[in-house]
Amino acid sequence: MIDLKRILVPTDFSKFSQRALAYAAAFAEKFGAEVYLLHVVQDLALFIPDMITVSPPLAPSVDQLTAAARDAFQRLIEENRLDRLTLHCEVREGTPFYEIIRFAKEADIDLIIMGTHGHTGLAHVLLGSVTEKVVRKAPCPVLTVRDPEHEFIHP
Ligand code: ATP
Ligand code: MN
Repeated sequence: MIDLKRILVPTDFSKFSQRALAYAAAFAEKFGAEVYLLHVVQDLALFIPDMITVSPPLAPSVDQLTAAARDAFQRLIEENRLDRLTLHCEVREGTPFYEIIRFAKEADIDLIIMGTHGHTGLAHVLLGSVTEKVVRKAPCPVLTVRDPEHEFIHP
């Protein structure tokens, strides 16, 4: 019998990952599992070419992004009535797929549930780039969740 004790939901706060969270909540209730919500912030300054010097910085700092993610977690928990679950909220800094896999190993995660797509959500790609890399490299099974209501817009 497969036992699910710890479920990881990496979220970019998109509609897709909201749906993944709904699945995770259902699994968690059935199996009595704990849910780990993880958002990975990236230092946007790393994406600004050296030739551009902006002052004051236009991009939000890692600290600001982390604070915003914590607020977003709070809203997510309230809006989805998740307070009945055992929930842990984590914000990490780095490359999303890498940090997701690192966290899954560290927390001994049994199942990852995530969106097929995220904020970009392009129809012609089968999977978003974060999900594709997590599926390839995760130490545990990955359940990918599509959003049937999402209308893909071709660029
Ligand atoms: P791409 O980013 O490759 O242009 P996309 O945004 O449509 O395409 P992904 O970024 O792979 O697709 O998002 C798929 C899923 O990966 C999301 O639904 C979410 O579960 C997870 N995810 C994406 N970005 C992050 C992040 N920064 N932190 C945590 N989870 C993330
Ligand atoms: Mn994305």
